[in-house]
Amino acid sequence: LTRQKAEKVVGWARSHYLSSAVLPNIKGDRLIIPRESLDVAIERLKEQGIKTKRPSQNIKNLAKDEYERNFISAVVPPDEIGVKFDDIGALEDVKRTLDELVTLPMRRPELFSHGNLLRNGDVTLTQVVLRWPVAISGENEIVKKCLPCKGVLLFGPPGTGKTLLAKALATEAGANFISITGSTLTSKWFGDAEKLTKALFSFASRLAPVIIFVDEVDSLLGARGGAFEHEATRRMRNEFMAAWDGLRSKESQRILILGATNRPFDLDDAVIRRLPRRIYVDLPDAQNRMKILKILLAKENLESDFRFDELANSTEGYSGSDLKNLCIASAYRPVHELLEEEKKGGPCSQNTGLRPLRLDDFIQAKAKVSPSVSYDATSMNELRKWNEQYGEGG
Ligand code: ADP
Repeated sequence: LTRQKAEKVVGWARSHYLSSAVLPNIKGDRLIIPRESLDVAIERLKEQGIKTKRPSQNIKNLAKDEYERNFISAVVPPDEIGVKFDDIGALEDVKRTLDELVTLPMRRPELFSHGNLLRNGDVTLTQVVLRWPVAISGENEIVKKCLPCKGVLLFGPPGTGKTLLAKALATEAGANFISITGSTLTSKWFGDAEKLTKALFSFASRLAPVIIFVDEVDSLLGARGGAFEHEATRRMRNEFMAAWDGLRSKESQRILILGATNRPFDLDDAVIRRLPRRIYVDLPDAQNRMKILKILLAKENLESDFRFDELANSTEGYSGSDLKNLCIASAYRPVHELLEEEKKGGPCSQNTGLRPLRLDDFIQAKAKVSPSVSYDATSMNELRKWNEQYGEGG
């Protein structure tokens, strides 16, 4: 790295950052870059032809005690998650809303006083907010209001891609990802659930930017169990809420709680309030099923005029997850055929290889993989009603 190139990075940073706390600095022959501005500095360096990688955080060293160490294996760094928004079929509105929520309101760029950030093509808004909190938490009140919201709920029938969306959002935002469920905090640690909960939040604050994904948030924080609720569970819930509130009051903490549930109507008001943005992730219609199928089958060997539209039209009621299972079941058919052929020892059985997948394979496989029956019309109605009352559409 030459002095001239380092100065370019610093110059660029000075003209873009709002807060001096995250400015890179040249000290002697070294370019010192604060952690908050690392990603963007790496981008600038790349432009100058200098390839460099974000030094990987040593997650193990960030855990301070035995409780925090329990979460080490649950943390996935953003470059290891392996799912991007582009890997998710359909759900364009949901993806856009998530991008806007975790970021700044896309349609109000004037709120961002130093508009250069917004016009900078290679840094997305998600990245700006999750990665540069200090840069935007200046004195500007309006900018403060735009800080990412700390609680988002994804709700909808099972298998519609809520977990996938959460992972992709972490990738897009360059955030660490921790997935927890009720049993993460309660099962083997029954007596210690409270301490473990506290540790989750203290550990997370050192992992920031981080998305804590709470799958089946209804089972962790659902409506109070009344007189039958176990005392330890109640204390754990209270601890969770208290730690969460502490987090919400710290604007520069880049921690997002992203909850997912199929049963939002089981959540009590205290939880709903803490998840101010609630996004409905619905079953796909025919057009969206086609988009999902195209992604799921992108790398498969299909017959040349494969009728995606026909398959999409004949899979009413299938979720993204059902479609995936259908694709897997269909892909087995040519395999079974080949094995049968080999067993018979047919003359050309050795060299034929697998034949391309045909629409008929899917039609046949449908007999084995039907749409998830667990989500009947009554539950769908309940979900839609809840969406009308509490959701913001998706
Ligand atoms: P949920 O969390 O809503 O129950 P998941 O995200 O776990 O659903 O989905 C299960 C699997 O189904 C995913 O891992 C993915 O393979 C597939 N899937 C679901 N929705 C989509 C989608 N929109 N695009 C591509 N794959 C999908």
